[in-house]
Amino acid sequence: MQIAIIGGGVGGLTSAIYALRAGCQVTVFEQYGYGGITATLTDIENYPGVIKANGFDLTQQMLQQVKELGGKTIRKKVVSVVVRDDQTFTVQTTKDVHVFDAVIVASGTRRNNLGFEQPFVGRGVSYCATCDGNFYKGQVVAVAGSGAHAVNEALYLSSVAKKVYLICDKEIKADQLLLDKLTKMENIEILPNTSVVEVLGEEQLKAIKVLRDGEISTIDLSALFVAVGTSPQTEFLPDTIERNKGFLVVDDTMQTSQKGIFACGDVANGNLKQIVSACSDGAKAGWFCAKYLKLNK
Ligand SMILES: Cc1cc2nc3c(=O)[nH]c(=O)nc-3n(C[C@H](O)[C@H](O)[C@H](O)COP(=O)(O)OP(=O)(O)OC[C@H]3O[C@@H](n4cnc5c(N)ncnc54)[C@H](O)[C@@H]3O)c2cc1C
Repeated sequence: MQIAIIGGGVGGLTSAIYALRAGCQVTVFEQYGYGGITATLTDIENYPGVIKANGFDLTQQMLQQVKELGGKTIRKKVVSVVVRDDQTFTVQTTKDVHVFDAVIVASGTRRNNLGFEQPFVGRGVSYCATCDGNFYKGQVVAVAGSGAHAVNEALYLSSVAKKVYLICDKEIKADQLLLDKLTKMENIEILPNTSVVEVLGEEQLKAIKVLRDGEISTIDLSALFVAVGTSPQTEFLPDTIERNKGFLVVDDTMQTSQKGIFACGDVANGNLKQIVSACSDGAKAGWFCAKYLKLNK
């Protein structure tokens, strides 16, 4: 009973642990580094049982668990999954082709962009405050976005930068704890109903233009952190699998509309995109996928 898990973030690694413990053989495909987004987070404060977790350490422990249970890992990008006539699945990577009895999709999301900031990516434009914030110590920076992710980015940057503009084109959506922290930070200025419309500079980003109430103004700064949401990564799957705004629709057992293909974590349809929910989904996907194989293969 061979299962392919596509994505080695917390969702994929947890599904691997549960499927392995249920007696299946598991291969986890990961295109970059195991641990996914969680591995890039330095201070996780809402993972039960750990008051302050380092994401890299936490996910390395999960990876270790997978390996100790006999899970196989392949560092390759999956480019397609094809359903075969005998209800097995061809998983093609950038290098080779494998056949599995079932698939768990745990490929997460990719960050959205504004559509015009690309010329300055890596030269003042970033998508990760914890990765790049330190380059702008004592300088003026801005975060574009209105969700919890944008608020978190602004809070992190407020401890590094001299001043942080939080540019929100919509109403801020974050839990009360985060909003309370935000209002306490004297070096964060929230610009409501405002959108970034242009990035300016030569070699390096120097300023942005923002639009508010029909008026355009310029903000001089050293960096813009873009935090405008994410999109699910499912392009390697058959188009026939049901999606909701791009997210994979799953039933109570985490099975997609395609029998034998399960999904978990941020790529699956559901409201809470968090580590604990990705792990919970992953546990269900691994366990129910193993049960599906025992009944059908
Ligand atoms: C800045 C930020 C801060 C956050 N802070 C918190 C927090 O404090 N607490 C919390 O609970 N949650 C937090 N979250 C949310 C949390 O990180 C996610 O909910 C969680 O990482 C989802 O895990 P996942 O396994 O579903 O996806 P991911 O972590 O996105 O992992 C998916 C993996 O799949 C791989 N992959 C994708 N496509 C392919 C392919 N074709 N082939 C091979 N591999 C592929 C990717 O490389 C990636 O490693 C935060 C998110 C962000 C962006």
